[in-house]
Amino acid sequence: MKKFSLILAFIFILIGGCACCAPQPQINENPIKNVIILIGDGMGFNHIKNTSLYCDIDNFEFESNFFSDVTTYSLNQEITDSAAAATALATGHKVYNYEVGMHKVYGEEEGVKYENIMEVAQKYGKKTGIFTSDALEGATPASFSSHVEDRGDNYEILYDQAYNSGIDLFVASQGSSIYEENKDLFENNNYKQLETLEDLENLEKNEKGIAVFNNLCSYYDENEKNVTNFNTALTYTLNYLDNENGFCLMIENAWIDKRSHNNKLNSAMCEVRMFADTIKLLKEFCKDRTDTSVFITADHETGGLQLAKTKDQLTNSLYTRTGHSAANVPLYTINVPFEKRVTVNNTDIFAMMKTLMTGNKYFE
Ligand SMILES: [Zn+2]
Repeated sequence: MKKFSLILAFIFILIGGCACCAPQPQINENPIKNVIILIGDGMGFNHIKNTSLYCDIDNFEFESNFFSDVTTYSLNQEITDSAAAATALATGHKVYNYEVGMHKVYGEEEGVKYENIMEVAQKYGKKTGIFTSDALEGATPASFSSHVEDRGDNYEILYDQAYNSGIDLFVASQGSSIYEENKDLFENNNYKQLETLEDLENLEKNEKGIAVFNNLCSYYDENEKNVTNFNTALTYTLNYLDNENGFCLMIENAWIDKRSHNNKLNSAMCEVRMFADTIKLLKEFCKDRTDTSVFITADHETGGLQLAKTKDQLTNSLYTRTGHSAANVPLYTINVPFEKRVTVNNTDIFAMMKTLMTGNKYFE
C-alpha cells in the first residue's frame, strides 16, 4: 500500500501537480536560464578606448567580447535621451524621448504600455532585479520597471515600481528626496528595507528587498569619499537572484553619463574602469556555467568624446559637447549564441534577450 501511494505521488509529480494550483510558469527548453543586461549610461567607443589608454590595459575586458555596434536614435529624435534608449532596450520599441516603457501618439488620450523584459521573465517564473548607480526613479531603471508618459513623473514611477513591477530586488543610489519621502510605498508592498551591504548579503531568497545606498560610484575616483562598493553589492545581488528557475537582471552604471555631461574626463574614466571590473565579475559568474547570457552595452554616447592618441592628450578638452550624441554604441556579449553582426538596433537587444529567455524566435 505504501509502495502504491509512493507511485501515485511520483505520477502526480510527473504530470506537474494539480490543476487547482496557481498558474504554472511557462517552460523554456532553451539552455539559457539567466539573462543579464549591463548598461554603461553614456559610454561610447571612445570612453572605452581612452580609459584603456589611461590604465595601460590592452584588452581591458571589452574587445574579446565584441558583438556589433548599436543604433541609438529614438522614435522622434536623432539624439536619444536615456528614457527612450532604455525603453528600446527594455521593451523592443523605439519611443519618443522622455517616454518610459510606453508610447503615446501626440494628441491621443491613451498610450500603449509595452511589455518589458522583466515582465517576460516573470511569466517564466524567473526572479527579477534592478541594480543601478542612479536614483531608483532615474530614466534607465524606470524603463525596466515602470510605464509612465514622462521620465519626470517621479512619483508615478516609484508607485509603479512598488506596486506593479513585480521586481524582487531593487538596488539604487541615493538620489533626490523623492524616494525618502515615498519609501512607505515599498514597505507597504512587503519590500524589506536594506540599509547596509550586510543587510543585502543576508536577504532571504523568499523576501523582496530594496537597498538605496550612499555614493554608489567608482572606487577608483579619488575625489569621492565613503563610496559603497558597487561590485560587492552586485555580488550579493547575484547570489540572491540565482535560483533554479533563473533570473533576469538589469545593471546600470549611471555615472559615465553624468561625468561626461560635466566634461569631467578623469572621473568618467574612473567609472569605465570600474565598469571593466563589473564585466570581470560577470565573466567569473559565468565561468563554470552555460546557462547565463550577458549583454553589455550603452544607451547612447555622452559628450561627443574624441579619441586621444597619447596619455598627455587625455584632458577634458576631448569632449566636444555637454549633451548626448547620435553616435552608435558598442555591444559586447558573454555566452550569447547568435552570429556577430556589423550593426544591430537597440531594439534587437530586447529581441535577443526574449529569444533566449522564451526559446521562441524573436531574433534569428
Ligand atoms: Zn545623459
